[in-house]
Formats: sequence, C-alpha cells, structure tokens
Amino acid sequence: MWIGTRRQFNGLIIGGLAMMITKNFSVNEMKCHCGCGEDSMDMDFMDILQNIREDMNRPLKISSAVRCANHNSKVSSTGITGPHVPRTDGTMASDILISGADALRLVDIARKHGISGVGISQRGPHAKRFIHIDTLSDDKHPRPTMWSY
Ligand SMILES: [Zn+2]
Repeated sequence: MWIGTRRQFNGLIIGGLAMMITKNFSVNEMKCHCGCGEDSMDMDFMDILQNIREDMNRPLKISSAVRCANHNSKVSSTGITGPHVPRTDGTMASDILISGADALRLVDIARKHGISGVGISQRGPHAKRFIHIDTLSDDKHPRPTMWSY
C-alpha cells in the first residue's frame, strides 16, 4: 500500500510517497537500521501492532523492529537469533519509544491484543525510554514473559 506523505523540511512542505505495511506503519520505519535492506515483518504481528495503535489512539514511534542477524549480533546480547531477527514469516517484535502513563497504557493494550513478550526500559531520559513487544514462542523464547533492561 502506498500513501502520500507530507513533511516539513526547513519550512517547506515536501510531498512524497511512503510504502506502508499497515495504515500507520511504513516499511522504512520497520526495516533494519544497518542498511542491509532487510524489512521482513510478520504480518500477524503487524496486524496486532496496528490494532494496538488504534486502541492507543496516538502515534507509536518505532525505535527498532527488523534487525538482520548480523546487525542484531552487534547491538544486542541476544546474538543472531534474538527476538528482532526475522523468523520464517518475518520479525515478530518491535521497540516503541514511550514512557510514563502511556507506557503503562501500552502494556495493558498490548496484552489485550495478544502480545506475549514485554520488555521494559523505563530508566533515564524519557525520550529514550521504550517498551519492547513481541509474539515469539519457541524453545529459546518461552512466552508469556516480561523482562527489564
Ligand atoms: Zn541489517
């Protein structure tokens, strides 16, 4: 799905096209940050994420979703099989920048929509705080569970 976007750049409104996975989440914001081009998200997870977004009734800023095995092994102790690495049908995890009352509301709503893994990073500057959500379930990632960073 392609939708028109408008963003402000040095006072100019720039029109463009963004390839969307769901109504509110684009390929660009979900793909691996290393530049490899890996962008495979699990569509069942994306449907859940979109439903969470609609219940939250506010934008959700994704700080990390897909990570290729190589990138994940550089940025996470979870190595080449961490929760952000694509499974058979894509990545089933996202980190969302959020804090305070909205962070607690996100956890409540995420659980209601079937999120089974919740990681909490709620220390330090509010702008860097995040909640990890995922729907993994395998020998290395037993669910439901919750952890902190
Ligand atoms: Zn990568």
